[in-house]
Amino acid sequence: MTTPVRTRFAPSPTGYLHLGGLRTALYAYLFARKHGGTFILRIEDTDQEREVPGAVEMIYQSLRAAGLTYDEGPDVGGDFGPYIQTQRKPIYLPHAWELVARGGAYPCFCTKEQLDQRRAQAEARGETWKYDKRCLSVPPVEAKRRVDAGEPHVIRQNVPTTGTAGFDDLLYGRVEVPCDTLDDAVLIKADGLPTYNFANVVDDHLMAISHVMRGTEYLSSAPKYDLLYRSFGWEPPLSLHLPVVMITDQEGTRKLSKRKGDPSFEDLLAQGYLRDAVVNYIALLGWSPGGEQEVFSLAELERVFDEKGLSKSPSVFDIQKLNWFNGEYIHALPFDEYFALAKPWVEQALGEGRFDLRRLCQMLQSRTDVFSQLPGMVDFLAKMPDYDLALYTHKKMKTDPQVALAGLNVALPALEGLDDWSEPALHDTLMAAIAESGKKNGQVLWPLRVAVTGRESSPGGAIEMAYLVGKDESLTRVRAAIARLTEHN
Ligand code: GLU
Repeated sequence: MTTPVRTRFAPSPTGYLHLGGLRTALYAYLFARKHGGTFILRIEDTDQEREVPGAVEMIYQSLRAAGLTYDEGPDVGGDFGPYIQTQRKPIYLPHAWELVARGGAYPCFCTKEQLDQRRAQAEARGETWKYDKRCLSVPPVEAKRRVDAGEPHVIRQNVPTTGTAGFDDLLYGRVEVPCDTLDDAVLIKADGLPTYNFANVVDDHLMAISHVMRGTEYLSSAPKYDLLYRSFGWEPPLSLHLPVVMITDQEGTRKLSKRKGDPSFEDLLAQGYLRDAVVNYIALLGWSPGGEQEVFSLAELERVFDEKGLSKSPSVFDIQKLNWFNGEYIHALPFDEYFALAKPWVEQALGEGRFDLRRLCQMLQSRTDVFSQLPGMVDFLAKMPDYDLALYTHKKMKTDPQVALAGLNVALPALEGLDDWSEPALHDTLMAAIAESGKKNGQVLWPLRVAVTGRESSPGGAIEMAYLVGKDESLTRVRAAIARLTEHN
């Protein structure tokens, strides 16, 4: 790369950071880091009606939570500020008038009613409406007089009627369209604020952005931006339009959407996903490192990211795959770290101080994919669930309700006589009783585990579960199981 690499993430503050946005931010960040460049945050808030209060702070927070440190931005400063578009308002209008002077734009005084009427007429003729350049014929002196007199107006781009417009995209190659397919987009709205069409060009130029990463929804407008760069006599940045992130649900495959309840980055963190796992997974949604390795820390991604691995096909967000990544990260945590993260989730179901949570969490770590699963995995400790006697039937353990009853009758007296309710003592006592009974281990331990947990699977076997449940409660549960099985058999 010859020019200094400067990339930007330019979200509109319309809500939480959705996963497509996070991915755009991540690629822009990785690209900058990979090439020793600068990563910039710019807030695009010119569409004030869509702005959600608090969303700007959420963006700062989410990017920090994701580890995507920006070198320049509204709350960190930089030499190219301000970094919030509404604070740049005084910059856009003079640029728009400069463009008017260069023939690349013109003021337009058409009212909404006039536009609606002409649009309806065009549609009645079976034509697709685009602005008909009527105000281009207003003589400049008259236009100036009307603007100075305060007549409401917008400023429109003057797209040539012939020839083509296009640009080079790192992913899509050369994109070129006939100019007569493009409309004279509004650059400055009646309220004096720029539209995205204009602001992105002015800002990317003034902020010396070298590479623009954004969604493919901008691909069709990008030729117009190129025309603007040329009208100004500016060198356009290189662009990289990223395919959309899809999701599959009952209705089929569609775009990820906040409105349809798809999780945002914050939602995932709140549900107990680790940020490193989410970032790792998101990085691979549309980018391939080109080898077998799938698990990458952010620092590794910064080293190995290569835009050549980006794909043009839409990627599909798969929660199962994310769960797998999250599980990989969780299993690899040092136990104390795992315990600190897991404890509040486990306490949701078990309260504080009633159980040996440290021991429980030792059993849970290798079984945890997402922390939000934990309450449902341990709640049986606090309250014996209803369960089906069919759980006592287990082919491999060679048990059925009858065998189970006999097995529990071996376990119960052994447990009743045990004072030291520790795992080693439970183990030794049960093993001795089983040996004496002549039964197979599974014919006692499987029924005992079911009787104590009421679950098909539990974080550990009979001994560990009985230990955690405690003596009195274990005995109560075993006695209740014996009563039920006696009645059933
Ligand atoms: N403000 C635009 C959005 O939030 C960003 C487009 C861009 O990155 O240029 O969708």
